[in-house]
Amino acid sequence: MTVQAEAASDNACHIPRLDFELTPGCDHACAHCYNVWNADAGDPQAGYDKSGQLRTPELLALMTKAVQQTNAHHITLTGGEPLLRKDALDVVDHACSLVSSVTLITNGSHVGPAVAARLARAKVSAVQLTLLAADRAEHDRLKGAVCFDDTVRAAVELRAAGVQVQVCFVAMHENARYFADVLELCFVLGVRSISYNRMSPTGGAIHHVARLMPTIEQIEANLDVAERLGRAWGVHVATAMPIPPCLIRLSRYSWVKFGFCSTGTSSPNIVIDAAGNVRSCNLASGVLGNLVRQDWADIFANPYQRRFRRNVPAMCKGCTYERSCQGGCKESAFATFGDHSHPEPLLWLAQHPQWREEVVDSVRQVFVPLARLRGPRAVGA
Ligand code: SF4
Ligand code: SF4
Repeated sequence: MTVQAEAASDNACHIPRLDFELTPGCDHACAHCYNVWNADAGDPQAGYDKSGQLRTPELLALMTKAVQQTNAHHITLTGGEPLLRKDALDVVDHACSLVSSVTLITNGSHVGPAVAARLARAKVSAVQLTLLAADRAEHDRLKGAVCFDDTVRAAVELRAAGVQVQVCFVAMHENARYFADVLELCFVLGVRSISYNRMSPTGGAIHHVARLMPTIEQIEANLDVAERLGRAWGVHVATAMPIPPCLIRLSRYSWVKFGFCSTGTSSPNIVIDAAGNVRSCNLASGVLGNLVRQDWADIFANPYQRRFRRNVPAMCKGCTYERSCQGGCKESAFATFGDHSHPEPLLWLAQHPQWREEVVDSVRQVFVPLARLRGPRAVGA
């Protein structure tokens, strides 16, 4: 029986979408970056193995195998910065030949007219750019790079080429007040879709919680803006990072589409890195298996996702929203506290506002006694 026939006979491990991290490299330096390979030595997520990056033929073959075995119909290409790969546009072409819907997430610094035209020819469904402020200096300060003009120019070039543009706004303590300006800039640029993600610290970002984690009041004010201006101007706003309903009454915001943790659901945010390592989402550092060496059915059978789903913080047990909310983002709880069942940083900060002062830019000072895993870790088995 062929691999495809095997997969077709077992719908149980079919999933609708896949993320590919094309490279861990990036030429921006965002303090809020969630990439797990940026964790410091001693952090719970430390030691993610970046070796074994696949060359073009192997990467394309991996993508084909992944789509055939998972039956996915949507691919997100991300990084790091995916366009730093010399073969990135060939990879985009290949992804578009495999599935009907492809999104490219890029920092925007490498999208000129020629790249925009190539993405249009490939029929990419959307390109996601990040805007952290509508003010050049503030955006660049938060991105750690001179890139605001590049990002705006990329949006203009992509729109001119006929490619749909989405904007990602990462809501942080230092930029939440700029959300209305960013929404207005999106409207002016013709962008009609914003992914609103409150900061969720993993990777190296756990060391910037005190400075960057937004308050509940700031998130609520942003949602008020999304409801009022987004609706008035036809700019759709969706959240990918969960916002626990015990912190904010989400039913007040009918314009905003709220997302919750997808790990262990029928539409998980499975991520495959450029060495073929498979993780349960892009904030997770635990490796479920390697799709170069294993088949998807074997990797999918890893019990990690099911255990993860059952493992909610004690405070969430019996909550009306336990099944959907799951206690927020449990991978950020692990990254920050070394424990998936610890209340995640947004919840913890809401309950312990003094924590912001206590951590003073380094959670390690406070949480050294908590369990830490060193080095690359396989999960599940
Ligand atoms: S743990 Fe859940 S909420 Fe957090 S990033 Fe992963 S899928 Fe999203
Ligand atoms: S599941 Fe937990 S975090 Fe989510 S709303 Fe309930 S108590 Fe709050």
